[in-house]
Amino acid sequence: MKEITLIPGDGIGTEVTAAVQKVLTAANQSIAWEIVNGGEGAYQATGQYIPDALLDSISTNKIAFKGPITTPIGKGFKSINVTLRQKYNTFANVRPVKSMEGIKTPFNNVDLVIIRENSEDLYCGIEHLVTEGVAESIKVITEKASLRIGEYAFQYAKKHGRNKVTSVHKANIMKISDGLFLDCIRRVAKKYPEIEYEEVIVDNMCMQLVMYPEKYDVLVLPNLYGDIVSDLAAGLVGGLGLVPGANIGEDIAIFEAVHGSAPQIAGKNEANPTACILSAAMMLDYINERSAADLIREAVAYVIREGKHTTKDIGGNATTEEMTEAICSYIRTVS
Ligand code: ATP
Ligand code: MG
Repeated sequence: MKEITLIPGDGIGTEVTAAVQKVLTAANQSIAWEIVNGGEGAYQATGQYIPDALLDSISTNKIAFKGPITTPIGKGFKSINVTLRQKYNTFANVRPVKSMEGIKTPFNNVDLVIIRENSEDLYCGIEHLVTEGVAESIKVITEKASLRIGEYAFQYAKKHGRNKVTSVHKANIMKISDGLFLDCIRRVAKKYPEIEYEEVIVDNMCMQLVMYPEKYDVLVLPNLYGDIVSDLAAGLVGGLGLVPGANIGEDIAIFEAVHGSAPQIAGKNEANPTACILSAAMMLDYINERSAADLIREAVAYVIREGKHTTKDIGGNATTEEMTEAICSYIRTVS
């Protein structure tokens, strides 16, 4: 039986990770979940935001499924998400964003994959007060990490039959740092003549995406632009409740939805479990359980298309549990 670390997380985390466990059981995936918490809940229980037990569990199992974790704002804590990504060197953050039938949005033809560099940029956490009233944050871009994310993006495009990679940058202003990023991606692009390559400045990219999202395929971005553009792209297909994600490293992978802990709706049984369930499907792809992953995606697509058991954020009135049960029920009927 496969052992996987499960981090329920904060806010809506417990509700949406419970949904994942149910769906994987319905899909006959016998997974021995090793449940260890991090974040606010863990802090209250153990005095540590990232307990040692959590780190040991991920190091041993190599695969983790993570609910959203809250980092206290402005208290000198380094983000737990960032810490985990750095510690396990999960350098690529992969977020497929696709229109779904049954969800009303201005577009029905979005099919993007966002590949976000996950280890550096302004997320290094190097910031200080230079003097009273003047703060400085350091943006680190390295050749090594930029080549690695570029390679990942082109390999991803090749493996998934995608035709174009667009790199997103602000090298007109940050000529040296974003300039280096761009130069590295260009070098990688030359090795893949069969894949179309283009570059778009991040502000223009935001406008392009809300006007002509169908023009884009795989996007590769430094960490901060990747964060922002991911939420924008989620908005194009119906919101954060729908978009899955994976943090991929050399030998460790951590799967998690794009959304955060959404404290306003926590504990109300109204969070959309889709983003987490689709992240679990990405996890099954990763462990080569392709048919179970496809079945789960089919079940989610069916329930959303049918529209009878969907959560409030996408126009329905079902609870998290009811939507999850509808997905499980489809899986049980078909398999
Ligand atoms: P965090 O600080 O943990 O990122 P947040 O308040 O930024 O928390 P997010 O989860 O990032 O919350 O989401 C912002 C908003 O998007 C939420 O307040 C909620 O309205 C909506 N949202 C996010 N995830 C979901 C979901 N799974 N189901 C329904 N709505 C969601
Ligand atoms: Mg957030």
